[in-house]
Amino acid sequence: MEKISKILIANRGEIALRIIRACKELEIKSVVIFSEEDVNGVWVAKADECYPIVGNSVDAYLKYNKIIDIAKKTKCDAIHPGYGFLSESAEFAQECEDNSLIFIGPKPQHIELFGDKMASKEAMKKVGVPVVEGINTPITDMDEGKKIAQKIGYPIIIKAAFGGGGRGMRIVHFADDFANMFESATNESIKYFGKGDVFIEKYVQNPRHIEIQVVADKYGNVLHLGERDCSIQRRHQKVIEITPSPLLNDEVRQRLCKISVDAMKKLGYESVGTVEFLVDERDEVYFIEMNTRVQVEHPVTEIVTGVDIIQRMIEIAAGDKLKYTQEQIQFRGYAIEFRINSEDPQNNFFPTTGTVKKYLTPGGPGVRLDTSLYSGYTLPTCYDSMLGKLIVWALDWKGAVAKARRALDEFHIEGFKTNIPLHREIVIDESFKNGEFDTGYLDTNMDRFN
Ligand code: ADP
Repeated sequence: MEKISKILIANRGEIALRIIRACKELEIKSVVIFSEEDVNGVWVAKADECYPIVGNSVDAYLKYNKIIDIAKKTKCDAIHPGYGFLSESAEFAQECEDNSLIFIGPKPQHIELFGDKMASKEAMKKVGVPVVEGINTPITDMDEGKKIAQKIGYPIIIKAAFGGGGRGMRIVHFADDFANMFESATNESIKYFGKGDVFIEKYVQNPRHIEIQVVADKYGNVLHLGERDCSIQRRHQKVIEITPSPLLNDEVRQRLCKISVDAMKKLGYESVGTVEFLVDERDEVYFIEMNTRVQVEHPVTEIVTGVDIIQRMIEIAAGDKLKYTQEQIQFRGYAIEFRINSEDPQNNFFPTTGTVKKYLTPGGPGVRLDTSLYSGYTLPTCYDSMLGKLIVWALDWKGAVAKARRALDEFHIEGFKTNIPLHREIVIDESFKNGEFDTGYLDTNMDRFN
């Protein structure tokens, strides 16, 4: 790899730290930018260079002209966007290119295509991927929506056209509820995304969320790194991620991997990406969306394959060919990731803040902790409540669950509430231990966990 020797990381928190670690191993210099609230961030201390960005909260990490300016002044070759913030901005990726900076991610046209859930479903359908039935233009009119829902057939799901993170989504089982649900989906969509446009899809009943990690270089070589089961969700947001999926039929696994790799080849995708599917009780599969960035849950895949996803992403952006063939990728054991959030499970998961008082971290064999927390750290109030991830590994599923129980017992954070107690209850639940869960598991069982 010749082209990249210094990277600006346009992100914060655990993912900024994760990228710094990848850079260090590749002997690449790292530069971070930080907001007023993030001056005490551990990643700021660990990067080779750090520069304040005037501005606060989320805005600081979205000021892309300023970020590009700093990258040029500090002689960076490339920018890594992490996840969230500018990671899915085709405009930013293009701006990097126009300023002779390498954007560590896919080409702008792919970011744009997959940023539009409806257009991406159409594109995937054209290359032979089964998609969930729905409309391909956003709507704002309730009567029009009602007609569409009738045509698709209940149950249906209303989704924010320009949304994400499970927001602006409503399931409708009966025509009588449509008006109410349409209104609340559009209102939530306006609140979070500034636009009330929504689209409508068939609601897949009791599905599992299975996603395929793909890695593609600039020369048409595409690999998959297996699946992740992200069915354990709260209000459509992932809470626990697992690989391999404990009860997934191997034929379905192979089918999803093949569909994903073939589609990425046909579309000329490059960089890492995740193809998300729903799998129903009859093992029918439906593509729902593609994420054109590194995902929060990438570590579970790294652990079972030994492939460093961030490092490969950097090398691909630098123009390197993929290091491995599909046959060389070996899958070993089970990995489970627990998202550690500063929120109060007893108070409707309301975000909490405070200063880390007592901090005892889990360790020992098969335990990985990706977090930017440390003792004495005060949480800024303006960012996402996800503070990091605990990842465990064992050769078999039972061993991984036991490891999770042990590691979660060792994990103590005092100073504010977290969801660690919820995770502790999930890992001793019989259904979880048997690998039996779909996307409704957590929401329908929440009473038992409190
Ligand atoms: P977001 O981008 O907001 O995360 P996704 O489209 O990825 O939204 O969906 C998030 C979750 O919502 C899925 O994992 C699944 O649990 C649920 N979901 C989305 N679409 C459907 C659908 N058509 N049928 C059933 N559940 C769905």
